[in-house]
Amino acid sequence: MTKIELIGLSFEELLGELEKFGEKKFRAKQLWQWLYFHGVTDFSKMTSFSKDLREKLEQNYSITRPKIVTEQISSDGTRKWLLEFADGQRIETVYIPEEDRGAICVSTQVGCGVGCKFCHTGSQRITRNLTAGEIVSQFMVARDVYGEWPSPSNGTPRKLSNVVVMGMGEPLHNTENTIKALNILTDGEGIALSKRRITLSTSGIAPKMLQIAQETGVKLAVSLHAPNNEKRTSIMPINKQYPLEEVLKACQEYQKIVTSRYITFEYLMLKDINDSLDDARELVALMKKYKLGAKFNLIAFNPWPGCGFEPSSNNRIRAFSQELERGGFVAPVRVARGQDILAACGQLKSKKEQN
Ligand code: SAH
Ligand code: SF4
Repeated sequence: MTKIELIGLSFEELLGELEKFGEKKFRAKQLWQWLYFHGVTDFSKMTSFSKDLREKLEQNYSITRPKIVTEQISSDGTRKWLLEFADGQRIETVYIPEEDRGAICVSTQVGCGVGCKFCHTGSQRITRNLTAGEIVSQFMVARDVYGEWPSPSNGTPRKLSNVVVMGMGEPLHNTENTIKALNILTDGEGIALSKRRITLSTSGIAPKMLQIAQETGVKLAVSLHAPNNEKRTSIMPINKQYPLEEVLKACQEYQKIVTSRYITFEYLMLKDINDSLDDARELVALMKKYKLGAKFNLIAFNPWPGCGFEPSSNNRIRAFSQELERGGFVAPVRVARGQDILAACGQLKSKKEQN
């Protein structure tokens, strides 16, 4: 008999499992805390349970972490793990440290079916969606590595304070599992991450964006990368399906629900493609038309072998940023992290051809 995996079940599902053994809600709560507050992976350590119950759990259930195949550490402290799931599929998870905190960048799919022309992951196509458990367990394995269950042992602030859903895959092509995973991460009895510390990035799957607002309330980032449909479609073919008007209308709806928060627009700086001052002005006009509380994140393009694009020069990026700021929008340049280990945006891959 195959064992049922506990990581990734909602609380209601977990309760349903315990009820099979005649256990009540408070037991399910305790189990939840063992899994998500203490980070226990071994039933014998669940000391508030009777030996009998521990044995029953052991026989019927598993608590699995993905296997760390490799760990690479960048000169800037960024870490990248190649993780393997039970079926042998692999993804990458990245930890990006900052002075007094840090973000785990989680993947939602093996590969990605959106096919943005500038993205290394996108050149790999989609193999499968990750389950909710596989999404959450990327964060959990990082907590194992950093010894942060239930909190850092020496009383220092958590290194793993934030989550960005910006790894491999399009989260809104795997919406249900992503939502389930985010709700586990924010559950107050377990990992208890604040919604404000989670940012989900999407290429703009307009019809699904509202659901994220309603069912999670996390911060939103949208990969815009161009000021008009023609340019956007040329680098992001998905724009044919969900053109800018639809994406920006969905952003307006998002802001009605998740109020008082900016939407971050990610804008990849590609030399001679989307980095002129005219592009910047068109972008400002577009934002004003939709009256969005927006800020920009200008991303330096990370080239990969055979990509066919070049990064914009620093001068170009600076001028572009200033033009957006003149238009009233904050537009910092996102410093690339972990480039030396191919852990930066758009460089993640899971197949053997990776460098
Ligand atoms: N699929 C989602 C989230 C993952 S990609 C999305 O597209 O938003 C995370 C960010 O990395 C996106 O803004 C994406 O456009 C950007 N990105 C992709 N390829 C890149 C590259 N080669 N250099 C820099 N950023 C890249
Ligand atoms: Fe997929 Fe995002 Fe890469 Fe586009 S940028 S191919 S949506 S992972």
